[in-house]
Amino acid sequence: MKPLAAHDVLLSPEQALATILLQAAPLGSELVDLHELTSSTVPRILAAPLHAGRMLPPWDNSAMDGYALRAADVVVGLPLPVRGTVAAGHPASQPLLPGTCLRIMTGAPVPEGADAVIMREESEEADGFVRFRSPARPGQHIRRAGEDIRPGDLLLSPGTPVGPGEVGVFSAVGRTLIEVHRRPQVTVLSTGDELVPADVAPGPGQITNSNSHALAAQIREAGGEPRLLPIVKDDPAAMRAAFAEALMADVVVSSGGVSVGQFDYVRDVLAELGAVEQFSRVAMKPGKPLTFSYINQGTEPRFRRVLWFGLPGNPASSMVSFELFVRPALRRLCGLPESAVQRPRAWVTLAQPIEPDRSRLHFTRARVERRSDPALSGTPSTSDTLWATPLAWQGSGMLRSMLGVQALLHIPPGNSPLPVGARVQATLLSLI
Ligand code: AMP
Ligand code: MG
Repeated sequence: MKPLAAHDVLLSPEQALATILLQAAPLGSELVDLHELTSSTVPRILAAPLHAGRMLPPWDNSAMDGYALRAADVVVGLPLPVRGTVAAGHPASQPLLPGTCLRIMTGAPVPEGADAVIMREESEEADGFVRFRSPARPGQHIRRAGEDIRPGDLLLSPGTPVGPGEVGVFSAVGRTLIEVHRRPQVTVLSTGDELVPADVAPGPGQITNSNSHALAAQIREAGGEPRLLPIVKDDPAAMRAAFAEALMADVVVSSGGVSVGQFDYVRDVLAELGAVEQFSRVAMKPGKPLTFSYINQGTEPRFRRVLWFGLPGNPASSMVSFELFVRPALRRLCGLPESAVQRPRAWVTLAQPIEPDRSRLHFTRARVERRSDPALSGTPSTSDTLWATPLAWQGSGMLRSMLGVQALLHIPPGNSPLPVGARVQATLLSLI
């Protein structure tokens, strides 16, 4: 076993995340066209504001199928002559004559001289004349030019995720090239002499490398672009070569080899490569050993800083550590403001008792169910309670608790069990 170094301080999860976010600034930008934006699985993040360059709607137009007229000409029950039709895409060639009306379709420009539209359902047309069942108010059923968007309006600010609504607005104002932050390129590598690829049957003493694949999926969900390297042996020379290759990225996520075992060389090799270690242990369960370092690459003007997350190899530890520390960093690199990088939190009520860890905050994997209080039925959902049931298989080597996990409960260290009904903080991993 290795002696613990003096700087092996144990950070709280909050301190660890704050340290990480200090090093995570949004990446530079690139221009992406609308088609690519709509095919992206996670929203891209705007790197520049969007100011409207045009008016929407561009001209007054009808909100209904019906008749365009002057409100003052309408007397309920008396006929008005119909002098033609204005269809969408076909503006009237002449102004409306007082005392007449024109059929008009939704989206068609309101003809000059008309100040109201009466909907078709309120009228009866026969032999070139129409009678109305209700009077008209000036302006009725007319969508005014610029009522939606005016030139110069600030429509979107940097840091906004480009979802379906944003895509709609960009296309409506005729912008097809959008400036968004670059997505982080993330290398994934797993270390361990015992590991074999997922498509190879493990021999004696061997296990399948599941972490690389689970982490790649997590990286993609967080907005990064994963690149998987082959399994790396617990051998400093092999690590040196693989790590140099891994550094061709914005971020590296490695699994295994960061604990105090005799063959846990990741930190030593990183130090040789010039990595500046920020911390190596976090007071939590699962996932206490966790190395976060940065490595400066190149020189000005092509200087870049690579962030390295050395996650523990235990499958649940690696996934939970990713969730709590790597995901927020990737989202920040993607361009989200710091206030938006973390998952939502909520207070939940325990549906089963929980035995806390003696010394460490335990992120307990749980399912969560929303139940209404029957005494308050019919009232808004703010009266609902989130009930949390811890999953079995809480061991840090147990992957099964990652199936169907909906929340990480924050169970503070303690000596006595938390009873059913106790309220605890939770990080919500899915919509409940
Ligand atoms: P380590 O962090 O390297 O000490 O590994 C801790 C435990 O996690 C050991 O039981 C490893 O066999 C297991 N492990 C390490 N890497 C992986 C991986 N990529 N996939 C699945 N299990 C792993
Ligand atoms: Mg190992």
